[in-house]
Amino acid sequence: MSSTFQQAIRRLHDAAQYLSIPQELLQQLEVPQELTSVHLRVRMDDGSIRLFPAWRCRYNDGRGPTKGGIRFHPDVSIDEVMSLAFWMTFKCAVAGLPYGGAKGGIQVDPKSLSERELERLSRSYIRAFSHVIGPDRDIPAPDVNTNAKIMAWMSDEYATLRGAACPAVITGKPVPLGGSLGRDDATGRGGFYVIEELKEQLGLPEKGARVIFQGFGNAAYACALLMHEAGYKIIGASDSKGALYDETGIDPVLLMEYKRKHGTLQGAKSSVESARSMSNAELLTQACDILVPAALENQIREDNAAQVKARVILELANGPTTAEADAILESNGIVVLPDILANAGGVTVSYFEWVQGRTGMYWTEEEVHTRLKEIMQREARLMWDRQEGKEFSTRKAIYVIALDRLSKALQAAM
Ligand code: GLU
Repeated sequence: MSSTFQQAIRRLHDAAQYLSIPQELLQQLEVPQELTSVHLRVRMDDGSIRLFPAWRCRYNDGRGPTKGGIRFHPDVSIDEVMSLAFWMTFKCAVAGLPYGGAKGGIQVDPKSLSERELERLSRSYIRAFSHVIGPDRDIPAPDVNTNAKIMAWMSDEYATLRGAACPAVITGKPVPLGGSLGRDDATGRGGFYVIEELKEQLGLPEKGARVIFQGFGNAAYACALLMHEAGYKIIGASDSKGALYDETGIDPVLLMEYKRKHGTLQGAKSSVESARSMSNAELLTQACDILVPAALENQIREDNAAQVKARVILELANGPTTAEADAILESNGIVVLPDILANAGGVTVSYFEWVQGRTGMYWTEEEVHTRLKEIMQREARLMWDRQEGKEFSTRKAIYVIALDRLSKALQAAM
């Protein structure tokens, strides 16, 4: 398989065929604009010093300051950070936000650190990248294994360095520190709005659509909760250690209670008695109406795509499907609701947070939900109309829409 970044670039070239974009402009989108690598030096609790590789990639700022989260994971690599920054560039264009795309990461297993070590690591990231980020330049946010607490440390470190409060430099902060209401569940909620908007076109039943979640973090849980309340049936969920399946339906609240208590879904069978355990790989291939990959990249690949028995795939994770798998799913009639649309709710509410931070006027939760819904519905509909009756897939449609917006912005300054 080619690298994740090469896979990402394939989507760019696929979409470019349908638009007349000057070659020199396309070239600008084939490489990151700015890529910074450092080794963070952090004092551990035992007095020793440890080095952590860390990156920030500002992929392209043609549509505005760059925006994207910071990931803490042992497998974070330069290839992954670049790919995620590329996707952010397209995602912000899909949601129509005045942003370019970026991403950051630290190669670390955060579970192996104490709370104080995690704080020192988070603060050291901001010291190392303080010249890269800024409210009009590059605005970080949470991503895999980072949360509001980490954003609070980071924003505090930035304010200390600058000698002034700067709420618009980081989003996903705790509400008392200038965070937005409704940011916490925004990614999952956005995905839910997309499914609801296209339910009929996708041929999903009005009630009782069977859903499987691969990964059960923040985004998956928020989406599962809304689906459960709306009468969908969650029949499976997994995390990195194992999966649970129950065709009679699982209450996501029970599942999350178990996960919070034990740190994993493994063994959750004891709380959901009728459920049976299975491997992560097995869960991916169970029959369902909606499969929701909500973990990491490259989960649905050439080697397992043919076994997927879902009607629709809702990509809450970034890059869960490889370019090779796309073709297989398409030929099997499986409709993909692509990541750059399906999980754009997070960055959309981040944008709301940035606007609130800059104006000092804070919105009600209801306002946040209404505006988020409007954007997700509008773009889902645009994507659907673009692909309907044409020979191309939903993924191609959304990339064509995003690339058209991006190229218009780049061209305007040429
Ligand atoms: N990390 C999230 C994403 O991949 C959110 C980014 C943001 O809020 O800036 O979309």
